[in-house]
Amino acid sequence: MYKMYINGEWVDSISGETYDLINPATEELISQVAYGDDRDAKKAIQVAHDVFPEWSQTTAKYRADILMKIYQLMMDKKEELAKIITEEMGKPFKEALGEVQNGAEHVAWSAEEGKRTYGQMIPSPTSDKRLLTIKQPVGPVAAITPWNFPLSMVTRKLSPALAAGCTAVFKPASQTPGSAIRFFELAEEAGLPKGVINLVMGKASKIGNEFVSNPLIRKITFTGSTEIGKKLMVGAAEQVKRVSMELGGHAPFIVFDDADLDAATTAATASKFRNNGQTCVCTNRIYVQSSIQEKFVSMLKEKVEKLVIGNGLDPETTIGPLIDEGGFNKAQEHVDDALAKGATLVTGGQRHDNKTGFFYKPTVLSHATDDMLITTEETFGPVAPIYTFETEEEVIKKANDTNYGLAAYFFTKDLNRSIRMYEALDYGMVGCNDIAVGTVQGPFGGVKESGMGREGGPGSLTDFMETKFVSIGM
Ligand code: ADP
Repeated sequence: MYKMYINGEWVDSISGETYDLINPATEELISQVAYGDDRDAKKAIQVAHDVFPEWSQTTAKYRADILMKIYQLMMDKKEELAKIITEEMGKPFKEALGEVQNGAEHVAWSAEEGKRTYGQMIPSPTSDKRLLTIKQPVGPVAAITPWNFPLSMVTRKLSPALAAGCTAVFKPASQTPGSAIRFFELAEEAGLPKGVINLVMGKASKIGNEFVSNPLIRKITFTGSTEIGKKLMVGAAEQVKRVSMELGGHAPFIVFDDADLDAATTAATASKFRNNGQTCVCTNRIYVQSSIQEKFVSMLKEKVEKLVIGNGLDPETTIGPLIDEGGFNKAQEHVDDALAKGATLVTGGQRHDNKTGFFYKPTVLSHATDDMLITTEETFGPVAPIYTFETEEEVIKKANDTNYGLAAYFFTKDLNRSIRMYEALDYGMVGCNDIAVGTVQGPFGGVKESGMGREGGPGSLTDFMETKFVSIGM
Protein backbone atom coordinates (compact mmCIF):
# COMPACT_ATOMS: atom_id res chain seq x y z
CA MET A 1 0.00 0.00 0.00
CA TYR A 2 1.44 3.39 -1.08
CA LYS A 3 0.72 6.12 1.46
CA MET A 4 1.04 9.90 1.51
CA TYR A 5 3.85 11.61 3.41
CA ILE A 6 2.80 14.57 5.53
CA ASN A 7 4.89 16.10 8.31
CA GLY A 8 7.27 13.15 8.24
CA GLU A 9 4.51 10.54 8.68
CA TRP A 10 3.24 7.98 6.15
CA VAL A 11 -0.53 8.42 6.23
CA ASP A 12 -3.76 7.22 4.59
CA SER A 13 -6.03 9.70 2.87
CA ILE A 14 -8.53 11.47 5.13
CA SER A 15 -11.38 9.82 3.19
CA GLY A 16 -9.71 6.39 3.52
CA GLU A 17 -10.12 5.90 -0.24
CA THR A 18 -7.54 4.11 -2.39
CA TYR A 19 -7.05 3.24 -6.06
CA ASP A 20 -5.34 0.42 -7.95
CA LEU A 21 -1.97 1.06 -9.59
CA ILE A 22 -1.59 -1.01 -12.79
CA ASN A 23 1.52 -2.08 -14.73
CA PRO A 24 0.89 -0.93 -18.34
CA ALA A 25 2.91 -3.81 -19.86
CA THR A 26 1.27 -6.69 -17.97
CA GLU A 27 -1.95 -4.99 -16.80
CA GLU A 28 -1.25 -6.52 -13.36
CA LEU A 29 -1.84 -4.78 -10.04
CA ILE A 30 1.31 -3.16 -8.60
CA SER A 31 -0.13 -1.68 -5.41
CA GLN A 32 -3.03 0.15 -3.88
CA VAL A 33 -2.46 3.88 -3.48
CA ALA A 34 -3.95 6.37 -1.02
CA TYR A 35 -6.45 8.58 -2.85
CA GLY A 36 -6.58 12.00 -1.21
CA ASP A 37 -8.33 15.25 -2.03
CA ASP A 38 -8.28 18.95 -1.11
CA ARG A 39 -8.46 18.16 2.63
CA ASP A 40 -5.20 16.20 2.51
CA ALA A 41 -3.61 18.93 0.38
CA LYS A 42 -4.71 21.57 2.89
CA LYS A 43 -3.19 19.63 5.79
CA ALA A 44 0.10 19.24 3.90
CA ILE A 45 0.18 22.93 2.93
CA GLN A 46 -0.27 23.95 6.57
CA VAL A 47 2.75 21.83 7.50
CA ALA A 48 4.87 23.31 4.70
CA HIS A 49 3.87 26.76 5.93
CA ASP A 50 4.63 25.97 9.59
CA VAL A 51 8.14 24.65 8.96
CA PHE A 52 9.06 27.32 6.40
CA PRO A 53 10.49 29.88 8.90
CA GLU A 54 12.92 27.36 10.35
CA TRP A 55 13.95 25.72 7.04
CA SER A 56 14.41 29.03 5.25
CA GLN A 57 16.80 30.15 8.02
CA THR A 58 19.13 27.17 7.58
CA THR A 59 22.37 27.86 5.74
CA ALA A 60 22.78 27.13 2.06
CA LYS A 61 25.65 24.83 2.96
CA TYR A 62 23.49 22.81 5.37
CA ARG A 63 20.83 22.38 2.68
CA ALA A 64 23.44 21.51 0.05
CA ASP A 65 24.93 18.83 2.31
CA ILE A 66 21.52 17.16 2.68
CA LEU A 67 20.93 17.36 -1.07
CA MET A 68 24.30 15.76 -1.76
CA LYS A 69 23.37 12.91 0.59
CA ILE A 70 20.13 12.44 -1.35
CA TYR A 71 22.14 12.44 -4.58
CA GLN A 72 24.41 9.72 -3.22
CA LEU A 73 21.48 7.60 -2.02
CA MET A 74 19.83 7.90 -5.43
CA MET A 75 23.02 6.73 -7.10
CA ASP A 76 23.27 3.82 -4.65
CA LYS A 77 19.67 2.80 -5.38
CA LYS A 78 19.82 3.46 -9.12
CA GLU A 79 18.67 0.01 -10.24
CA GLU A 80 15.87 -0.21 -7.71
CA LEU A 81 14.52 3.21 -8.68
CA ALA A 82 14.76 2.40 -12.39
CA LYS A 83 12.82 -0.84 -11.91
CA ILE A 84 9.98 1.04 -10.22
CA ILE A 85 9.85 3.52 -13.12
CA THR A 86 9.75 0.75 -15.75
CA GLU A 87 7.07 -1.23 -13.93
CA GLU A 88 4.80 1.78 -13.50
CA MET A 89 5.13 3.51 -16.86
CA GLY A 90 6.69 0.97 -19.21
CA LYS A 91 9.85 2.68 -20.46
CA PRO A 92 12.82 0.39 -21.22
CA PHE A 93 14.97 -0.28 -18.16
CA LYS A 94 18.02 1.34 -19.78
CA GLU A 95 16.05 4.55 -20.33
CA ALA A 96 14.82 4.38 -16.74
CA LEU A 97 18.42 4.13 -15.54
CA GLY A 98 19.19 7.24 -17.60
CA GLU A 99 16.27 9.01 -15.97
CA VAL A 100 17.50 8.17 -12.47
CA GLN A 101 20.97 9.46 -13.39
CA ASN A 102 19.54 12.69 -14.79
CA GLY A 103 17.21 13.06 -11.81
CA ALA A 104 20.06 12.62 -9.35
CA GLU A 105 22.17 15.13 -11.26
CA HIS A 106 19.45 17.73 -10.78
CA VAL A 107 19.78 17.21 -7.03
CA ALA A 108 23.55 17.70 -7.15
CA TRP A 109 23.24 20.69 -9.49
CA SER A 110 20.78 22.41 -7.16
CA ALA A 111 23.04 21.72 -4.19
CA GLU A 112 25.85 23.54 -5.99
CA GLU A 113 23.70 26.38 -7.30
CA GLY A 114 22.18 26.92 -3.85
CA LYS A 115 25.58 27.94 -2.51
CA ARG A 116 25.85 30.71 -5.11
CA THR A 117 22.64 32.68 -4.77
CA TYR A 118 24.52 35.94 -4.48
CA GLY A 119 23.01 39.34 -3.80
CA GLN A 120 24.60 42.56 -5.06
CA MET A 121 26.08 45.78 -3.68
CA ILE A 122 24.86 48.65 -5.85
CA PRO A 123 26.80 51.96 -6.03
CA SER A 124 24.65 54.62 -4.38
CA PRO A 125 24.07 57.96 -6.11
CA THR A 126 24.63 59.73 -2.74
CA SER A 127 27.35 59.25 -0.11
CA ASP A 128 24.90 58.87 2.80
CA LYS A 129 23.36 55.64 1.54
CA ARG A 130 24.26 52.04 0.84
CA LEU A 131 22.20 50.01 -1.62
CA LEU A 132 22.08 46.24 -1.85
CA THR A 133 19.98 43.24 -2.84
CA ILE A 134 19.54 39.91 -1.09
CA LYS A 135 17.94 36.71 -2.39
CA GLN A 136 15.26 35.01 -0.31
CA PRO A 137 13.15 31.88 -0.89
CA VAL A 138 9.67 32.60 -2.28
CA GLY A 139 7.94 30.53 0.42
CA PRO A 140 6.03 27.22 0.38
CA VAL A 141 5.88 25.80 -3.15
CA ALA A 142 3.31 23.42 -4.69
CA ALA A 143 4.62 21.06 -7.38
CA ILE A 144 2.70 18.83 -9.80
CA THR A 145 4.35 16.37 -12.21
CA PRO A 146 3.31 14.06 -15.08
CA TRP A 147 3.90 10.31 -15.56
CA ASN A 148 6.45 10.31 -18.41
CA PHE A 149 9.45 11.14 -16.18
CA PRO A 150 8.14 10.04 -12.79
CA LEU A 151 11.39 10.61 -10.90
CA SER A 152 13.45 13.24 -12.71
CA MET A 153 10.48 15.64 -12.71
CA VAL A 154 10.34 15.33 -8.93
CA THR A 155 13.95 16.30 -8.52
CA ARG A 156 13.78 19.07 -11.13
CA LYS A 157 11.18 20.75 -8.97
CA LEU A 158 11.93 19.79 -5.38
CA SER A 159 15.70 20.12 -5.42
CA PRO A 160 15.87 23.77 -6.54
CA ALA A 161 13.03 24.53 -4.11
CA LEU A 162 14.94 22.91 -1.24
CA ALA A 163 18.26 24.47 -2.20
CA ALA A 164 16.65 27.91 -2.29
CA GLY A 165 15.19 27.41 1.21
CA CYS A 166 11.57 26.78 0.20
CA THR A 167 9.34 24.09 1.67
CA ALA A 168 7.05 22.13 -0.63
CA VAL A 169 3.92 20.10 -1.19
CA PHE A 170 4.13 17.68 -4.08
CA LYS A 171 1.64 15.72 -6.18
CA PRO A 172 2.88 13.03 -8.62
CA ALA A 173 0.83 11.72 -11.56
CA SER A 174 -1.61 9.05 -10.45
CA GLN A 175 -0.05 6.47 -12.82
CA THR A 176 3.48 6.80 -11.37
CA PRO A 177 3.74 7.53 -7.64
CA GLY A 178 6.26 4.77 -6.73
CA SER A 179 9.60 6.39 -7.53
CA ALA A 180 8.46 9.69 -5.98
CA ILE A 181 7.55 7.80 -2.80
CA ARG A 182 10.99 6.20 -2.80
CA PHE A 183 12.56 9.66 -3.28
CA PHE A 184 10.75 10.91 -0.15
CA GLU A 185 12.07 7.90 1.79
CA LEU A 186 15.61 8.65 0.63
CA ALA A 187 15.23 12.33 1.56
CA GLU A 188 14.19 11.27 5.06
CA GLU A 189 17.18 8.91 5.26
CA ALA A 190 19.45 11.78 4.18
CA GLY A 191 18.29 13.79 7.19
CA LEU A 192 15.80 16.20 5.64
CA PRO A 193 13.77 17.55 8.59
CA LYS A 194 10.15 16.48 8.74
CA GLY A 195 7.53 18.62 7.07
CA VAL A 196 9.95 20.32 4.66
CA ILE A 197 8.58 18.31 1.74
CA ASN A 198 5.18 16.64 1.76
CA LEU A 199 3.54 14.23 -0.65
CA VAL A 200 -0.16 14.09 -1.50
CA MET A 201 -1.87 11.86 -4.04
CA GLY A 202 -5.42 11.54 -5.29
CA LYS A 203 -8.06 13.62 -7.04
CA ALA A 204 -5.98 15.92 -9.25
CA SER A 205 -8.55 18.66 -9.78
CA LYS A 206 -9.30 19.01 -6.04
CA ILE A 207 -5.66 18.90 -4.99
CA GLY A 208 -4.70 21.31 -7.80
CA ASN A 209 -7.47 23.66 -6.81
CA GLU A 210 -6.30 23.69 -3.20
CA PHE A 211 -2.74 24.41 -4.39
CA VAL A 212 -3.83 27.46 -6.34
CA SER A 213 -6.47 28.80 -3.95
CA ASN A 214 -4.68 28.30 -0.61
CA PRO A 215 -2.93 31.62 0.20
CA LEU A 216 -0.16 29.83 2.11
CA ILE A 217 1.25 28.55 -1.20
CA ARG A 218 3.43 31.21 -2.82
CA LYS A 219 4.43 29.45 -6.01
CA ILE A 220 3.14 26.70 -8.31
CA THR A 221 5.52 24.66 -10.43
CA PHE A 222 3.82 22.39 -12.94
CA THR A 223 4.80 20.03 -15.74
CA GLY A 224 1.98 18.57 -17.81
CA SER A 225 -0.48 19.43 -20.53
CA THR A 226 -0.99 22.96 -21.82
CA GLU A 227 -4.71 22.57 -21.05
CA ILE A 228 -4.20 21.96 -17.31
CA GLY A 229 -1.32 24.44 -17.14
CA LYS A 230 -3.59 27.21 -18.39
CA LYS A 231 -6.23 26.34 -15.77
CA LEU A 232 -3.64 26.51 -13.01
CA MET A 233 -2.36 29.85 -14.30
CA VAL A 234 -5.86 31.30 -14.29
CA GLY A 235 -6.34 30.08 -10.70
CA ALA A 236 -2.94 31.34 -9.58
CA ALA A 237 -3.67 34.79 -11.04
CA GLU A 238 -6.34 35.36 -8.36
CA GLN A 239 -3.59 35.69 -5.74
CA VAL A 240 -0.84 36.75 -8.15
CA LYS A 241 1.03 33.55 -7.31
CA ARG A 242 4.25 32.87 -9.10
CA VAL A 243 4.09 30.06 -11.64
CA SER A 244 6.58 27.95 -13.57
CA MET A 245 4.99 25.98 -16.38
CA GLU A 246 6.56 23.28 -18.50
CA LEU A 247 3.79 22.35 -20.92
CA GLY A 248 3.27 20.57 -24.23
CA GLY A 249 5.52 20.67 -27.27
CA HIS A 250 5.41 20.00 -30.99
CA ALA A 251 9.05 19.69 -31.97
CA PRO A 252 10.10 20.08 -35.60
CA PHE A 253 13.12 18.08 -36.78
CA ILE A 254 14.60 19.67 -39.90
CA VAL A 255 17.05 17.96 -42.23
CA PHE A 256 18.86 19.96 -44.95
CA ASP A 257 20.33 18.29 -48.03
CA ASP A 258 23.93 18.78 -46.82
CA ALA A 259 23.30 16.96 -43.51
CA ASP A 260 25.04 13.80 -42.39
CA LEU A 261 22.09 11.50 -43.09
CA ASP A 262 23.33 8.65 -40.97
CA ALA A 263 23.64 10.95 -37.95
CA ALA A 264 20.31 12.64 -38.76
CA THR A 265 18.32 9.40 -39.08
CA THR A 266 19.87 7.97 -35.91
CA ALA A 267 19.01 11.20 -34.07
CA ALA A 268 15.49 11.30 -35.53
CA THR A 269 14.87 7.71 -34.40
CA ALA A 270 16.12 8.47 -30.88
CA SER A 271 14.30 11.78 -30.62
CA LYS A 272 11.00 10.42 -31.93
CA PHE A 273 10.88 6.98 -30.31
CA ARG A 274 12.59 7.58 -26.99
CA ASN A 275 10.10 6.79 -24.22
CA ASN A 276 7.81 5.62 -27.03
CA GLY A 277 7.27 9.18 -28.22
CA GLN A 278 5.96 10.18 -24.81
CA THR A 279 8.12 13.18 -23.95
CA CYS A 280 7.33 16.84 -24.45
CA VAL A 281 10.56 17.31 -26.44
CA CYS A 282 10.01 14.30 -28.72
CA THR A 283 10.14 15.05 -32.42
CA ASN A 284 6.62 15.55 -33.81
CA ARG A 285 7.24 16.75 -37.36
CA ILE A 286 10.18 15.72 -39.55
CA TYR A 287 10.90 18.21 -42.37
CA VAL A 288 13.25 16.87 -45.05
CA GLN A 289 14.59 18.86 -48.00
CA SER A 290 12.95 17.38 -51.10
CA SER A 291 16.14 16.24 -52.89
CA ILE A 292 17.03 13.83 -50.06
CA GLN A 293 13.51 12.77 -49.14
CA GLU A 294 13.61 9.25 -50.59
CA LYS A 295 17.01 8.43 -49.18
CA PHE A 296 16.07 9.79 -45.75
CA VAL A 297 12.82 7.79 -45.64
CA SER A 298 14.49 4.52 -46.52
CA MET A 299 17.33 5.05 -44.01
CA LEU A 300 14.86 5.99 -41.27
CA LYS A 301 12.64 2.99 -42.05
CA GLU A 302 15.60 0.65 -41.68
CA LYS A 303 16.51 2.07 -38.26
CA VAL A 304 12.93 2.17 -36.97
CA GLU A 305 12.32 -1.44 -37.97
CA LYS A 306 15.26 -2.46 -35.77
CA LEU A 307 13.51 -1.16 -32.63
CA VAL A 308 12.47 -3.98 -30.31
CA ILE A 309 8.99 -3.87 -28.76
CA GLY A 310 8.39 -5.52 -25.41
CA ASN A 311 8.23 -5.34 -21.64
CA GLY A 312 10.68 -2.65 -20.51
CA LEU A 313 12.28 -5.04 -18.03
CA ASP A 314 13.46 -7.27 -20.90
CA PRO A 315 17.04 -6.10 -21.66
CA GLU A 316 16.44 -6.34 -25.44
CA THR A 317 13.49 -3.93 -25.36
CA THR A 318 13.85 -0.46 -26.87
CA ILE A 319 10.11 0.33 -27.12
CA GLY A 320 7.76 -0.32 -24.20
CA PRO A 321 3.97 -0.01 -24.01
CA LEU A 322 2.09 3.26 -24.20
CA ILE A 323 0.93 4.50 -20.82
CA ASP A 324 -2.74 3.59 -21.25
CA GLU A 325 -5.60 3.01 -23.66
CA GLY A 326 -6.09 6.76 -24.19
CA GLY A 327 -2.46 7.11 -25.32
CA PHE A 328 -2.84 4.11 -27.63
CA ASN A 329 -6.05 5.42 -29.18
CA LYS A 330 -4.54 8.83 -29.87
CA ALA A 331 -1.64 7.28 -31.82
CA GLN A 332 -4.07 5.20 -33.87
CA GLU A 333 -6.35 8.20 -34.46
CA HIS A 334 -3.44 10.30 -35.76
CA VAL A 335 -2.31 7.52 -38.09
CA ASP A 336 -5.85 6.87 -39.43
CA ASP A 337 -6.44 10.57 -40.01
CA ALA A 338 -3.10 11.00 -41.82
CA LEU A 339 -3.69 7.97 -44.05
CA ALA A 340 -7.20 9.17 -44.91
CA LYS A 341 -5.73 12.53 -45.94
CA GLY A 342 -3.12 11.04 -48.27
CA ALA A 343 -0.07 10.08 -46.18
CA THR A 344 1.91 6.98 -47.16
CA LEU A 345 2.50 4.28 -44.55
CA VAL A 346 6.22 3.48 -44.53
CA THR A 347 6.20 1.14 -41.54
CA GLY A 348 4.06 0.27 -38.49
CA GLY A 349 0.58 1.74 -38.29
CA GLN A 350 -1.03 -0.82 -36.05
CA ARG A 351 -1.12 -2.56 -32.69
CA HIS A 352 1.73 -4.90 -31.85
CA ASP A 353 0.30 -8.34 -31.13
CA ASN A 354 1.22 -8.66 -27.45
CA LYS A 355 -1.39 -10.40 -25.34
CA THR A 356 -1.43 -7.63 -22.74
CA GLY A 357 -0.48 -3.96 -22.63
CA PHE A 358 -0.88 -1.01 -24.96
CA PHE A 359 1.83 -1.77 -27.50
CA TYR A 360 1.82 0.20 -30.75
CA LYS A 361 4.24 -0.48 -33.59
CA PRO A 362 6.78 2.30 -34.22
CA THR A 363 5.32 4.07 -37.22
CA VAL A 364 6.71 6.21 -40.04
CA LEU A 365 4.45 8.13 -42.43
CA SER A 366 5.71 9.99 -45.50
CA HIS A 367 3.94 12.66 -47.58
CA ALA A 368 2.45 14.26 -44.47
CA THR A 369 0.62 17.54 -45.02
CA ASP A 370 -0.46 20.55 -42.96
CA ASP A 371 -4.15 19.59 -42.78
CA MET A 372 -3.48 16.43 -40.77
CA LEU A 373 -4.19 16.20 -37.03
CA ILE A 374 -0.65 15.04 -36.43
CA THR A 375 0.66 18.38 -37.74
CA THR A 376 -1.05 20.43 -35.08
CA GLU A 377 -1.82 18.12 -32.12
CA GLU A 378 0.82 16.57 -29.88
CA THR A 379 0.73 12.81 -30.62
CA PHE A 380 2.64 11.65 -27.54
CA GLY A 381 3.15 8.31 -29.24
CA PRO A 382 5.46 6.44 -31.65
CA VAL A 383 4.39 8.04 -34.93
CA ALA A 384 6.85 9.95 -37.16
CA PRO A 385 5.32 12.02 -39.98
CA ILE A 386 7.69 13.21 -42.73
CA TYR A 387 7.06 16.44 -44.67
CA THR A 388 9.15 17.87 -47.49
CA PHE A 389 10.37 21.41 -48.05
CA GLU A 390 12.38 23.32 -50.66
CA THR A 391 13.91 26.40 -49.00
CA GLU A 392 15.26 27.48 -45.61
CA GLU A 393 12.80 30.35 -45.46
CA GLU A 394 9.87 28.02 -46.10
CA VAL A 395 10.88 25.50 -43.45
CA ILE A 396 11.45 28.15 -40.77
CA LYS A 397 7.93 29.43 -41.41
CA LYS A 398 6.45 25.94 -41.18
CA ALA A 399 8.46 24.97 -38.11
CA ASN A 400 7.31 28.09 -36.25
CA ASP A 401 3.68 27.77 -37.36
CA THR A 402 2.43 26.33 -34.05
CA ASN A 403 1.25 27.59 -30.68
CA TYR A 404 3.93 25.45 -29.06
CA GLY A 405 7.56 26.48 -28.60
CA LEU A 406 9.47 23.94 -26.55
CA ALA A 407 12.21 22.15 -28.54
CA ALA A 408 13.31 22.19 -32.19
CA TYR A 409 16.10 20.32 -33.96
CA PHE A 410 17.92 20.77 -37.25
CA PHE A 411 20.72 19.01 -39.12
CA THR A 412 23.08 20.75 -41.55
CA LYS A 413 26.83 21.13 -42.07
CA ASP A 414 26.58 24.79 -43.07
CA LEU A 415 27.75 26.99 -40.18
CA ASN A 416 26.15 30.21 -41.34
CA ARG A 417 22.85 28.47 -41.88
CA SER A 418 23.12 26.94 -38.41
CA ILE A 419 23.40 30.38 -36.87
CA ARG A 420 20.47 31.71 -38.90
CA MET A 421 18.40 28.66 -37.91
CA TYR A 422 18.95 28.72 -34.16
CA GLU A 423 18.23 32.43 -34.10
CA ALA A 424 15.05 32.09 -36.19
CA LEU A 425 13.44 29.08 -34.53
CA ASP A 426 10.86 30.33 -32.04
CA TYR A 427 11.56 27.70 -29.38
CA GLY A 428 12.97 27.61 -25.86
CA MET A 429 15.54 24.96 -26.80
CA VAL A 430 17.23 24.21 -30.12
CA GLY A 431 19.35 21.20 -31.04
CA CYS A 432 21.84 21.96 -33.81
CA ASN A 433 23.09 18.58 -35.13
CA ASP A 434 22.05 17.33 -31.69
CA ILE A 435 18.98 16.24 -29.76
CA ALA A 436 20.16 16.20 -26.15
CA VAL A 437 18.33 19.24 -24.80
CA GLY A 438 17.51 17.67 -21.42
CA THR A 439 20.96 17.90 -19.87
CA VAL A 440 21.02 19.34 -16.34
CA GLN A 441 23.58 22.01 -17.31
CA GLY A 442 21.13 23.59 -19.79
CA PRO A 443 18.05 25.69 -18.98
CA PHE A 444 15.04 23.53 -19.92
CA GLY A 445 11.76 25.21 -20.85
CA GLY A 446 9.61 26.68 -23.55
CA VAL A 447 8.09 29.79 -25.08
CA LYS A 448 4.55 30.50 -26.34
CA GLU A 449 2.03 27.91 -25.05
CA SER A 450 4.84 25.55 -24.05
CA GLY A 451 5.23 27.48 -20.84
CA MET A 452 7.40 29.83 -18.85
CA GLY A 453 10.34 29.47 -16.50
CA ARG A 454 13.39 27.22 -16.83
CA GLU A 455 14.53 24.10 -14.98
CA GLY A 456 18.22 23.28 -14.59
CA GLY A 457 21.03 25.31 -16.11
CA PRO A 458 22.56 28.53 -14.82
CA GLY A 459 20.07 30.44 -12.70
CA SER A 460 17.87 27.41 -12.04
CA LEU A 461 17.03 28.73 -8.56
CA THR A 462 15.85 32.10 -9.85
CA ASP A 463 12.22 30.96 -10.07
CA PHE A 464 12.30 29.90 -6.42
CA MET A 465 13.77 33.11 -5.02
CA GLU A 466 12.74 36.73 -4.62
CA THR A 467 15.16 39.60 -5.02
CA LYS A 468 14.83 42.05 -2.12
CA PHE A 469 16.24 45.54 -2.48
CA VAL A 470 17.59 47.22 0.65
CA SER A 471 18.33 50.95 0.87
CA ILE A 472 20.36 51.91 3.95
CA GLY A 473 20.38 55.53 5.09
CA MET A 474 23.46 56.52 7.13
P1 ADP B 1 -0.83 14.19 -19.02
O1 ADP B 1 -1.60 14.14 -20.29
O2 ADP B 1 0.64 14.20 -19.16
O3 ADP B 1 -1.31 13.24 -17.97
P2 ADP B 1 -1.98 16.28 -17.41
O4 ADP B 1 -1.79 17.76 -17.53
O5 ADP B 1 -3.36 15.75 -17.51
O6 ADP B 1 -1.03 15.67 -18.52
O7 ADP B 1 -1.34 15.76 -16.07
C1 ADP B 1 -0.15 16.26 -15.53
C2 ADP B 1 -0.29 16.33 -14.03
O8 ADP B 1 -1.35 17.24 -13.73
C3 ADP B 1 -0.66 15.01 -13.37
O9 ADP B 1 -0.04 14.95 -12.09
C4 ADP B 1 -2.16 15.15 -13.22
O10 ADP B 1 -2.68 14.35 -12.18
C5 ADP B 1 -2.28 16.63 -12.88
N1 ADP B 1 -3.61 17.20 -13.13
C6 ADP B 1 -4.59 16.77 -13.95
N2 ADP B 1 -5.67 17.57 -13.85
C7 ADP B 1 -5.37 18.54 -12.95
C8 ADP B 1 -6.06 19.68 -12.43
N3 ADP B 1 -7.28 20.00 -12.82
N4 ADP B 1 -5.40 20.44 -11.52
C9 ADP B 1 -4.16 20.14 -11.14
N5 ADP B 1 -3.46 19.11 -11.59
C10 ADP B 1 -4.05 18.30 -12.49
